Amino acid sequence: MGEVAAAATTLFDRLDAIPPLAAEERQLCESVRALARDRIAPAAAAHDRSAAFPWDNVKAINALGLNAMFVPEAYGGAGLSYAAYLACVREISRACASTGIIWATNFHAVKPLVDSGSEEQKRRLLPRVAEGALGALAITEADAGSDATGMTTRFAPEGDTVVVTGGKSFITNGDVADLTLVFGKWAGLGDGRDAISALYLEKGTPGLVVLRKEEKMGHRASSTAALAFEACRVPRANVLGRPGGGLPLLLAALNKSRPSVAAHALGIARAAFEDAILYINERRQSGRRIVEFQGIQFLLADLATDLAMCEAWLWHVARLVDGGAADIGPEASMLKMRASDLAMRIATEAVQLHGGYGYCLDYRVERLMRDAKITQIWEGTNQIHRQLIGRSFIAKG
Ligand SMILES: Cc1cc2nc3c(=O)[nH]c(=O)nc-3n(C[C@H](O)[C@H](O)[C@H](O)COP(=O)(O)OP(=O)(O)OC[C@H]3O[C@@H](n4cnc5c(N)ncnc54)[C@H](O)[C@@H]3O)c2cc1C
Repeated sequence: MGEVAAAATTLFDRLDAIPPLAAEERQLCESVRALARDRIAPAAAAHDRSAAFPWDNVKAINALGLNAMFVPEAYGGAGLSYAAYLACVREISRACASTGIIWATNFHAVKPLVDSGSEEQKRRLLPRVAEGALGALAITEADAGSDATGMTTRFAPEGDTVVVTGGKSFITNGDVADLTLVFGKWAGLGDGRDAISALYLEKGTPGLVVLRKEEKMGHRASSTAALAFEACRVPRANVLGRPGGGLPLLLAALNKSRPSVAAHALGIARAAFEDAILYINERRQSGRRIVEFQGIQFLLADLATDLAMCEAWLWHVARLVDGGAADIGPEASMLKMRASDLAMRIATEAVQLHGGYGYCLDYRVERLMRDAKITQIWEGTNQIHRQLIGRSFIAKG
């Protein structure tokens, strides 16, 4: 590699050294990096083409015991830091965005249980997660997307059970999950925000129907399912928190899942940037390497600077969470919004820098561009994040 690429390597090595990881966490991240490089990345194009769920990757991830990192030791896990978790999400997503979001979704579904579950629920459910159970987080409905509080899924208590009726749209892992955290409204508490409640629905519950799996532009190997709940009977013991206490749980869950989807987007961004640098250091036109044209260098300067700033902010947010900061809403929104806009921008420029070859399947940048798009839409669209950030500056009157 030439001098330019060597400088980029130093830059990114230094960025990768920012997260304050313990020695065993660094070691684990190294194992994940090796798995991503040697097994997950080489299979990513085939998974994208077939759109088949990557069970081989899930098995390999579970062979490393990776779910254990977000389950506390007392419940059969390893209880590692949030920074270590984000580093692993980014590494897996850099190799295969579909596999990255499948694994990250396990965390999104389970973190509310770790933070707010009862002792009995944690003892019963968390060891299964640590051993590799798949999770799903079901908030969105056909008519309740950006405004999730418009959800109409109903939880009707009946003795020791809760009868769940309704449906959810676009649920990542929805058809394969062992444990799905479902948000709905508690019957008898009205239709407002105060009725929002949460419960864990277990795989195989009668009445849980997978209506369809979406055909998607990107993330083709991750499954995205429309679910129907046809009077599913769920043990009352699976209700998370109190009836009507779901909205704070939902907001807390999003505060932890948004940095996670940002780490995922930054994995895509890093892969696209690296591919572009490699290509333009090789490809020659008009007797020069593409990287030697000043117009291209100005573009690289902007992309690399934004990527470096955004990655530094990722570790800032990780430090806040690991330090126990209470409300990280605005910081998490800034991170999610900027990381996903940047992933889309870098992936699009990477295609451009590959010229016509970038538009063809021989190079993975076209896949990275397709994979990047959804990061601006899920976990709150970027329009919604702009509103959340802007609104946070309104003084309380
Ligand atoms: C591949 C994929 C995976 C997903 N995984 C999950 C999952 O695991 N769990 C889950 O619960 N959901 C999931 N989702 C759903 C996702 O979070 C929603 O699609 C997203 O929140 C947007 O909702 P919507 O699609 O209904 O769009 P809408 O809310 O209908 O928005 C349409 C457009 O209007 C804009 N808009 C809406 N309201 C406003 C406003 N107030 N101001 C300005 N603009 C506005 C939006 O930004 C958007 O551009 C997934 C979606 C996809 C496609």
